[in-house]
Amino acid sequence: MMKKQHQWDTTWLLFARMMADRHSKCASKSVACVIVKDEKPISIGINGTPSQHVNCNEIYLKQDNILYKAEAERQQEKADALSIVHNGQVFYRCDNQEEHHEWSKMNEIHAEINALGKLAADSTSARHATAYVTHSPCHACSLALIASKIDRVVYSTGYEYGDGLTLMRQSEIEVLHRPLTEEYFLERIFDKDL
Ligand SMILES: [Zn+2]
Ligand SMILES: [Zn+2]
Repeated sequence: MMKKQHQWDTTWLLFARMMADRHSKCASKSVACVIVKDEKPISIGINGTPSQHVNCNEIYLKQDNILYKAEAERQQEKADALSIVHNGQVFYRCDNQEEHHEWSKMNEIHAEINALGKLAADSTSARHATAYVTHSPCHACSLALIASKIDRVVYSTGYEYGDGLTLMRQSEIEVLHRPLTEEYFLERIFDKDL
């Protein structure tokens, strides 16, 4: 029974990871949240701006861990070694590397809020469900998960900000960290009876 639960946890985390990697339009971080209830996925949220708003990756670009910004109004002579061209668009290195973080706070919806919001739009309850998240939820998302009466939160990557996990545990949510290791994939290759 425990082994089966562990396998499903890994399956949904891998699914969340793939949704984030393939479909997040945030230049800085790809996050996804899959809400599963009675063994069925009932909602998927990805971090990003509301639909019909400009996407993060149309403004920002991250390369080698450095953030760049598309600035149409910037003078051409400033296009120097600190700029890169991507899809025909010039991106300039952000003088302030925290700039995206500030912009994101004002414009991007976190994956967990997007997932819970979709459920709310359909009048579907997340009560007793499990949230699978690629990254540990931040403070605000943890409060939203508590309010939605979710039972479990499983995440694969630790997140550097906030104390959300402590808050959720105080509210008796089962919080699990299941890192998705490369060994997992290797195990599968060698274990499989082909
Ligand atoms: Zn972003
Ligand atoms: Zn969050």
